Amino acid sequence: MSVAPEIKGWCPGALRPMQSGDGLVVRIRPPLGRLTPAQAAAIARAALNHGNGIIDLSARANLQLRGVSESSHTPLIADLRSHDLIDPDIETESLRNLIVTPFRDATTTDLAATLTAALARMPHLPGKFGFALDTGPRPVLTEASVDIRVERSADGRLILRPEGHPLGKPVRDLAADAIAMAEWFIAHGGVTNDRGRMAALIARGVIPEDCDSAPAYALPQPEPGLHADGALVAMAFGQMRAETLAALATFGHEIRPTPWRMLFLVGAKALPDYPGLITDPADPILRVTACTGAPACPQARGDTRQLAWSLALHLPRGQALHVSGCAKGCAHPGPSGLTLTATLSGYDLIRDGSASDTPSLTGLSRQAIPDLLKAPHAPSL
Ligand code: SF4
Repeated sequence: MSVAPEIKGWCPGALRPMQSGDGLVVRIRPPLGRLTPAQAAAIARAALNHGNGIIDLSARANLQLRGVSESSHTPLIADLRSHDLIDPDIETESLRNLIVTPFRDATTTDLAATLTAALARMPHLPGKFGFALDTGPRPVLTEASVDIRVERSADGRLILRPEGHPLGKPVRDLAADAIAMAEWFIAHGGVTNDRGRMAALIARGVIPEDCDSAPAYALPQPEPGLHADGALVAMAFGQMRAETLAALATFGHEIRPTPWRMLFLVGAKALPDYPGLITDPADPILRVTACTGAPACPQARGDTRQLAWSLALHLPRGQALHVSGCAKGCAHPGPSGLTLTATLSGYDLIRDGSASDTPSLTGLSRQAIPDLLKAPHAPSL
């Protein structure tokens, strides 16, 4: 039996945290998609002083402090505000839904500042509506869930591309053009009951004019390890202790959270060796994605992460598995090779779909799942 999860239609922020089974979840949106070492160290301290010391990385390249109480929220915000990590008000915070490529030069950082200023002047948009600034040497954010993308065309021109459409519009004035595309989205019926995504509007055949430029060829999701400008490090399920973030704050000169739930340590010349960090792309735990699940999420129908840990070793390399505590699929909203969705009567198995898609098998016990995964292409699946 399955019960529909509650869809809130907005993302938690720092000023508007979300209640979870282990307290308030406070989401920090790093300004311009980066943290100074001092800011990272301050977040780590704040997580220990005002939360339960657990920090999640989100698929929108944000950091979430868990286990914050009603009484510790106010001093937490004061601490974070003193490090320039808090927006002036909830409306500004909710509009600042921007993912910036971690692989960038000074031009991209300037564009991020321009776009951030423009976001504060956007019309009222649905809570999940977001932007990606993907103007590094190659686009790398193509899997991120956003609505408007700023990219470069094959010949290096800046383009604005509505999510779901293969072509973008040449940019003349980034701030004005981004606002105009958001207004176009609203004016053309993209919003119903304060919800709506660009891809859904484009799928209905509603396309902005002058979208005639293809973006440059995109790279697949980068792997953990050393890269040209620094080190990319992962953690199981994108979750770490505050002590880990405090230790990472001493590597490199800037930390850039990524939508792959990894941190890019800019300027690091060697891989940090710290308990819980994943720097080997072959680590099996990278094959699994799992949301918070039970007991920390009140909507969860079952455990997710313990099950995902136990299943990771059964997965062949290249096989992705998403374990979701309910049909909402927070950890991986898109399709995955295999998805296990917890229900009130066990786990449903979905192939090449998302957590809410029609399952191939239903009501599976935890004990039955490993054998099924060993033969992922068996006809019974
Ligand atoms: S998908 Fe996971 S984290 Fe999201 S609501 Fe369901 S159980 Fe909670």
